[in-house]
Amino acid sequence: MKESPDFETLFAKFRKDVAAVSVEETFPRLTILGSSSATPTKFRNMSGYFVELSDDFCFFVDCGEGTYGQLLALFGPQRTAELLIKLKFIFLSHGHQDHVIGIFDLVLERRKAFLAAEKTFTPLRVLAPTIVFPTMNMYDMSIEKMTDYFEATLTTRPRTQEETAGDLWDKDGVIDVGSYIPGFESWPVKQLRVVTVHHPRQAKALILETTDGKKLVFSGDTKPCNRLIAAGKDADLLVHEATFCDEFTRDAEKKSHSTMSQAVEVGEKMNAKMTLLTHFSARYKKVPLMPTYLDAKANVGIVMDNMVVRWSELPLIPRLIPLFRAIYSNEIDDVKTQLSKRNFKKMNSLVPNADPEQSPKIAKKAQRLV
Ligand SMILES: [Zn+2]
Ligand SMILES: [Zn+2]
Repeated sequence: MKESPDFETLFAKFRKDVAAVSVEETFPRLTILGSSSATPTKFRNMSGYFVELSDDFCFFVDCGEGTYGQLLALFGPQRTAELLIKLKFIFLSHGHQDHVIGIFDLVLERRKAFLAAEKTFTPLRVLAPTIVFPTMNMYDMSIEKMTDYFEATLTTRPRTQEETAGDLWDKDGVIDVGSYIPGFESWPVKQLRVVTVHHPRQAKALILETTDGKKLVFSGDTKPCNRLIAAGKDADLLVHEATFCDEFTRDAEKKSHSTMSQAVEVGEKMNAKMTLLTHFSARYKKVPLMPTYLDAKANVGIVMDNMVVRWSELPLIPRLIPLFRAIYSNEIDDVKTQLSKRNFKKMNSLVPNADPEQSPKIAKKAQRLV
């Protein structure tokens, strides 16, 4: 920070912004426990979002390996145990292991917390596609008993012949999953839906509407998805993956992920009041590239691990972008250098064949890279 000439000015401005925000509304409160995609970096863990709707109702969206450790590091053992007792459900968006493996610790530690506090144990509700349960059964059989400590609500169902004939389950890719949860009417949640999105391993997004009228959308992993845009219309908060920077459109397409500008566009089409970007590729070790078009958007922010955001503080997140640019300027320069090297390499491999007469297509491509 000291090396950055702009830091002090930017920080003073941010402090003013903070002072101007009233922090009356605490809930929902969002805690980011992992904002990296497939692999962790030294600074960011894999997917994990912890949401508190009130003092006694909280849930997780995804939990990559190490999510429990993140919780412990952030809140300490006492508070973590209290939070785990209040934990009502975990939503696992899909079967990729970087979104799932942390569940073993969470389920087992939650059980321990109940025992230590001498409270009557209630199994944890796990909302997940069928694809994740064989791993959990295997863990139960070969490592430690855990299947008694949770109850599953499937977000996908194996399609039997009778089901495909008469059942409307998942017909249009949106499931009102709340109506399948026993005791759902006592939750502070009006509606809980999952939406089939464009990503492998039975990927779903989550849409939760609170009883006091707030709409929260978590995309999970996906390419831009029109079904999600329609179902999430007018969301108060959209947490959307933005795995790749805009130079990697083709990689994003191939791996069924979104680029940053695609995620921003999804938020705009959805008319989301706030879009928070996350799930950045591990090539961006501390922060992703933050293009200048973000400066024109007052409602698009970048998340970092260990951020704890109260509801009324959400407008502050986009204002952190100039600070991130100043603090992480060296890292951003490194990523940009790597990008130039990559383009240079690509260009060199094309240039020897780039005679426009001989191969106009290659020549055009090489020209584009220049
Ligand atoms: Zn992922
Ligand atoms: Zn994935």
